[in-house]
Amino acid sequence: MKKVLLHICCGVCAFACINYLKEAGFYVEGFFCNPNIMPNEEYIKRKDAAEKVCGITSVKLNAPIYAPGNWDTVCSIYSNEPEGGRRCDLCYEFRLKETFHKAMELGFDFFTTTLSVSPHKKSKIINEIGIKIAPAYFMAIDFKKNDGFKKTMEFAKTNNIYRQNYCGCAYSIR
Ligand code: SF4
Repeated sequence: MKKVLLHICCGVCAFACINYLKEAGFYVEGFFCNPNIMPNEEYIKRKDAAEKVCGITSVKLNAPIYAPGNWDTVCSIYSNEPEGGRRCDLCYEFRLKETFHKAMELGFDFFTTTLSVSPHKKSKIINEIGIKIAPAYFMAIDFKKNDGFKKTMEFAKTNNIYRQNYCGCAYSIR
């Protein structure tokens, strides 16, 4: 069975993506790599939600040490950009690169991300970034297709999964 390391941005987005990959016959583990999330209390809420969904779906969740400073060093050059702008491209790239390196370290065959399930995120850009990082290893999927977002929202509602009201970084709060 081929192994996929799934970058998980939050609990709400995780369910449909895990389900999709499992139904496609992959062994799945999660990777909660989101140093973009501020403040620390919010990071903990989202990580707890991701752990809850992984627990329900019987998926192991890996997570690096929370290091928002590293993310900010890279992404703050575009602090004034609106959501969806150049800062977000760097943010996707940062998290996908970390996921790729972890996937290689743990001996996974592929990596991908839950980010494309959100209607607020442009799957084409996310997938282009993943392919640029590692074309032979990145699974370019648009998880919002086939009602992916609707299904994940229904699951989150039924299971009382924490749902955030801003994207994640300090610049997206304002
Ligand atoms: S708005 Fe969201 S995607 Fe964009 S940089 Fe901030 S956390 Fe990352």
